[in-house]
Amino acid sequence: MIKYVIFLGKPGSGKGTQAQRFVERGWAWLSTGELMRQHIRKQTDLGQQVSHYVQSGSLVPDEITFALVSDFMSGLSDKARVIMDGFPRSKNQAQLLEEWSARNGAELILAIEFCLSDDEALRRLLNRYLCPLCGFIGNAPGRCPKDDAELVRRVDDDEAVILRRIQDYGNYISQLRAYYQRLGKYMAVNGMASPDTITKQLDKVMGVGLR
Ligand SMILES: [Zn+2]
Repeated sequence: MIKYVIFLGKPGSGKGTQAQRFVERGWAWLSTGELMRQHIRKQTDLGQQVSHYVQSGSLVPDEITFALVSDFMSGLSDKARVIMDGFPRSKNQAQLLEEWSARNGAELILAIEFCLSDDEALRRLLNRYLCPLCGFIGNAPGRCPKDDAELVRRVDDDEAVILRRIQDYGNYISQLRAYYQRLGKYMAVNGMASPDTITKQLDKVMGVGLR
């Protein structure tokens, strides 16, 4: 049975860093942002639909986002452990995911929210540099410690776009929080804590030996 956790958190909350650590231990990482970029790059049908919305600066509709998610999930083995990052973004998407899980025998472990202030998220994002090869996230320009590639600012890491993404998050998170609290599957972590502290907390609920 596929088991998954959902990482909730505004951009800059540190959930990407934690996801990376668990991916190194064999977890699959479902990042809708990354899936969208992949499909756009490969110019798939879904990718073309996504780029239409991205270019016009609007949110990608639920059915397209969910098509990306189910396409990804269907390609996994039934023993897979998955971190969902950036999905779901609405109660509607959360319900689609629950229905899909029930039909396909997948199970949500927990929805985990990384909490921190808007100011701190903005400060972090304005100082974020990404490795184009492996996705490593650094907080200064330079080279990737893993493969020596030049770290770059992400295109969408400029202040106006970041502020809009933070605002988007504020608009949808309360319904999701309520949704997962009702299911008894919500947990909050302090996004201001050190990455190691957060990893230890996550270890307890995600179970190092799960895979
Ligand atoms: Zn790298």
